[in-house]
Amino acid sequence: MERTVVRCAEGHVFTAASFPMQKAERLGPGRLIRCPRCARLRSVVPVVLEKH
Ligand SMILES: [Zn+2]
Repeated sequence: MERTVVRCAEGHVFTAASFPMQKAERLGPGRLIRCPRCARLRSVVPVVLEKH
């Protein structure tokens, strides 16, 4: 299963399984996912990892 690195509205970075990219594009820039640091649903955005 592919995992996506995401960042919540509070700045916490974590990985989410099967981030619904297509729905995210349709609904807007963010997506509600449970943040393990906030312990609640947060609006998150996918983090683009820079290639070196
Ligand atoms: Zn968080």
